[in-house]
Amino acid sequence: MAETQQQQQQYQKPLPEITKQSKPFWDAAHEHKLVVQQCTQCQRYQYPPIDLCPVCAGELTWVEASGKGEVHTFIIMHQLYHPAFKAELPYNVSVIQIEEGPFMLSNVVNCANEDIKIGMPVKVVFEDVTDEVTLPKWTPA
Ligand code: ZN
Repeated sequence: MAETQQQQQQYQKPLPEITKQSKPFWDAAHEHKLVVQQCTQCQRYQYPPIDLCPVCAGELTWVEASGKGEVHTFIIMHQLYHPAFKAELPYNVSVIQIEEGPFMLSNVVNCANEDIKIGMPVKVVFEDVTDEVTLPKWTPA
């Protein structure tokens, strides 16, 4: 009985692959902070994490983002591609453009699918899905 309950509580969806490069992002998310890279030379913001600035080859450093953004585009998934998403169908997959410029792939939460609009202002919220992994999600601002 206890074992069954534990299995039901376990997070069943695919988890992000945490690499050496992306670890600072996931470590910050775990502390409920949204961080992106910023070029130390041209100041451009970068996400997803890479080694060097793609514009000027400058060094990148991690900085905290404002946590504000807007819905750049989104789709509503009606087809079940992974059994763990069954209870949420139909669900949205949204591209958020953060205030600093980069795009992040996530979900809009606390909002009915039919109310999601392109250009809608959103702010980050954090979903602790396992002891190690926290996922940034976006809620209407
Ligand atoms: Zn640069």
